[in-house]
Amino acid sequence: MGRVREIAQLGHPVLRKIAEPVEKIDDGVQQLIDDLFATSEAASGAGIAAPQVYVSSRVFILSIKPSVRYPDAPEVEPTAVINPEILWQSENLEKDWEGCLSVPGIRGRVPRPDAIGVRYQTRHGETVEREFSGFAARVFLHEHDHLEGMTWLDHVEDNREIVSEQEFMRALID
Ligand SMILES: [Zn+2]
Repeated sequence: MGRVREIAQLGHPVLRKIAEPVEKIDDGVQQLIDDLFATSEAASGAGIAAPQVYVSSRVFILSIKPSVRYPDAPEVEPTAVINPEILWQSENLEKDWEGCLSVPGIRGRVPRPDAIGVRYQTRHGETVEREFSGFAARVFLHEHDHLEGMTWLDHVEDNREIVSEQEFMRALID
């Protein structure tokens, strides 16, 4: 069972570090993955990366489904990602809204490739290659950024495309 961990907030140096590769998928990594799922679930996230819980390791999880924070999200099976590589990305970029549990209170429009090919290790140590598109590709790239010490704010092209969570939710309802 996972437990909810504290989420690092923008300004903490752990969010700006390049995360370390996972050498061995041991019990500590399994617990970390369970805790990432629990922490994302509790905060209605679409995913969360290890540096966001103060662990500078190349691990993240995707937990993509409709939620309070992402009502229009598709349903993707819960996925743990270890030591990911981006193999290719589409030239076509799509701009859409992103938020982040480490950047509370605001949302912004972020350009991202609309399709990607990736390789990573599963929590069982298998190496898999997969393609993601649309919102799932966006979340994968967002979480991958956290392993590189980046946040969505680093991709915003125009500060006028950053809005408060309150205004974002109001626009959703309208
Ligand atoms: Zn994030």
